[in-house]
Amino acid sequence: MKNNKNTICVHTGEVKDEQFGGAVSPIYMATSYNYLDVDQKRYPRNFNTPNQEVIGKKIAALENAEAGLAFASGMAAISTALFAFLESGDHVVLANQIYGGSFNLVSQEFDKYGISYDFTNGVELKDFKEKIKTNTKVIYIETPSNPLLTITDIAAVAELAKSKNIVSMIDNTFASPINQTPIDLGIDIVIHSATKYLGGHSDIFAGVVASNKEYIHKIALKGKNFGGNISEFMSYLLERSIKTLGVRVEKHNENAQFIAEFLENHPSVVKVYYPGIKSHPNYEIAKKQMHGYGGMLSFELNEEFDVVEFQKTLKMIKPSLSLAGVESTILLPSLTSHSPMTKEERQALGISESLLRLSVGIENKEDIKADLEQALNNQL
Ligand SMILES: *Cc1c(COP(=O)(O)O)cnc(C)c1O
Repeated sequence: MKNNKNTICVHTGEVKDEQFGGAVSPIYMATSYNYLDVDQKRYPRNFNTPNQEVIGKKIAALENAEAGLAFASGMAAISTALFAFLESGDHVVLANQIYGGSFNLVSQEFDKYGISYDFTNGVELKDFKEKIKTNTKVIYIETPSNPLLTITDIAAVAELAKSKNIVSMIDNTFASPINQTPIDLGIDIVIHSATKYLGGHSDIFAGVVASNKEYIHKIALKGKNFGGNISEFMSYLLERSIKTLGVRVEKHNENAQFIAEFLENHPSVVKVYYPGIKSHPNYEIAKKQMHGYGGMLSFELNEEFDVVEFQKTLKMIKPSLSLAGVESTILLPSLTSHSPMTKEERQALGISESLLRLSVGIENKEDIKADLEQALNNQL
């Protein structure tokens, strides 16, 4: 981790309270601002109210980008960014391993707008190359991916996109800007569901985008029409959360590494998916492009286990739909994010029916291990 990240987390973009000298940014709830003799007309849908701007500045600094924008959800950020660069007649190449909501956006909406798309067959460079057409305008990746923690070589894909004048986008949610800064590797646009690590406490719903000024301007113009803007109050809460992002993510990294190694050595665990262990097929790429391996991991139990019962036997780890909170949570992708697919479609992606996704929290790592251990032993 670059050692100035924690300072950015705490201070960058804050609104100075000049009236009372308070130590934190005041919340400006106004939706109506003086428009005479000002350089910009402030209005929440213009992405330029004081608390919204805090988030834009913070995410830009954390991602080593020129500018940033805050949205009301991760999907608002993703859809607005994609539609800003795609119009009727265009084509987009997307990694096959992407978040379910992003997959649905593309597969359920793009046809209506005359935008064609291809999902790759894998995440090697050749898989992206072979899908590019003369009208391809965007390449979209997610690494590490959900739920298999697949790793894509970011610099290689970014270079491929640049060589063909294609805009590259990445969903950087799983890594967080603490573990991975794709703009340094040549990516044009970085997107996060801030509902996850940036928020980090399972109580914020938001999204962010970071890029150069020109692209951010383009995305903001589209965003004004779509209206998926973040509220002042959520912006304030998100600012508060990002202050501890660096310290939280360091702890998530440490705990997940420890738990991944524990699970890998447990006789009832068939397979562990975590980019920080040497058995991960893309461990070397992960090592090259990540500063830490994150708090997410997945694992498969051997066939004797009832995987639903296993989750109920856990005492501290919560079976829970979302991820990246300070508390450890677990879910079965075949019952949740990937339930709209058939068993065969899941299998084609490598997602087995017994695959469990664990979001490792910041509790004492021995306590997380003990909870998993008692649940593993319970069914033996
Ligand atoms: C949750 C998530 C999203 C969608 O974000 P929302 O805030 O739920 O709209 C996108 N990408 C990834 C990787 C996610 O985990």
